[in-house]
Amino acid sequence: MPPITMHTLASLRERLVEHLDGRRVRADVALGPYTTFKVGGPADLFVELRSSAEMLAVLELARDAGVPVTMLGGGSNVLISDAGLRGLVVRVHGGAIDLVKPNRVRAEAGVTINGLVRWTIARGLAGLEAWAGTPGTVGGAIHGNAHFQGRLMSEIVDSVLLATRDGRTNELPVGEMRFGYDTSRVQHTGEVVLAVTFKVERGDPEVLRRVARASLTYRKRTQPLHMPSAGCIFQNPHPDDGPLPPGVPRSAGALVDHAGLKGFHLGGAQVSAVHGNFFVSDGAASAADIRALVEKCRDGVAAATGITLREEIVYLGDFGISGKSPGR
Ligand SMILES: Cc1cc2nc3c(=O)[nH]c(=O)nc-3n(C[C@H](O)[C@H](O)[C@H](O)COP(=O)(O)OP(=O)(O)OC[C@H]3O[C@@H](n4cnc5c(N)ncnc54)[C@H](O)[C@@H]3O)c2cc1C
Repeated sequence: MPPITMHTLASLRERLVEHLDGRRVRADVALGPYTTFKVGGPADLFVELRSSAEMLAVLELARDAGVPVTMLGGGSNVLISDAGLRGLVVRVHGGAIDLVKPNRVRAEAGVTINGLVRWTIARGLAGLEAWAGTPGTVGGAIHGNAHFQGRLMSEIVDSVLLATRDGRTNELPVGEMRFGYDTSRVQHTGEVVLAVTFKVERGDPEVLRRVARASLTYRKRTQPLHMPSAGCIFQNPHPDDGPLPPGVPRSAGALVDHAGLKGFHLGGAQVSAVHGNFFVSDGAASAADIRALVEKCRDGVAAATGITLREEIVYLGDFGISGKSPGR
């Protein structure tokens, strides 16, 4: 893609203002507040969208202008560089939830997982309740195939409505989503998640509420929820990654702990003393601090165990070093 000029951005901005309320189209917007880490430099252009229809229109305008688009949901699984993001950042926020069949619920990409959990429980629909407390949106959860206590989000997905970057839509059954641990096809194709249909069944709201409360209690007990973070930094290692040290479980946090790095500080970033796979910010951490801490822990774990950890979080923007974790 050719370099983005001020002129290109200005004309895309004009086109966006024609299509959306002008107040929703902003330039030079600090992205930190839109992430749970609370770090990250500015976006050249920033819009907040709700519906699939708006997303399709905006994707088409950006394609015509030749401006790259970065999708952002709840910003709970990303580290955005201090230099920010060039082009257009689309934050997807809110949207519709519908019971499309007695056993199928469809949610647009910007619906929060917590909002969807509350919606289904209130209607006596079982399936989503154990996901209570998962930050972020339906779109983000599909992108990384969110997981909790050994379960994958894909287990409750029936189909996904995707858009290509030039605005063509495609409804895919779950089997075509190439879901795996922390992966989905959209990571490879760059497609945008517009909506997801989830499998549900009838359930007693009181029982569902109890399951949701248990998930929330577990999170409060095991995660440093009082400080900015992006959840787990690293994926848990795969059996092919090499043998584990005796007595250490197949958990990235346990390996960081084993390497003596739990609680380790670097600038304003710290490996949480509560959970070795959660990195937290003291509120003044830069993205560079957090990235350097990731490398420190990867190196420390590799030196102590021979296992090279891969990131679960997504890097957005330029960090001056390769943004890719080591492949398997
Ligand atoms: C306290 C805490 C606890 C967490 N616990 C868990 C947990 O238990 N399990 C777990 O799996 N994760 C967990 N996470 C990480 C995070 O909440 C999940 O990965 C979540 O699903 C990310 O969703 P999001 O909307 O915030 O995505 P974002 O962080 O906004 O984006 C993540 C990626 O998805 C892409 N994306 C976002 N929306 C779309 C879209 N509509 N179409 C295409 N691509 C899109 C982005 O470009 C980015 O590459 C936790 C995070 C925190 C802060």
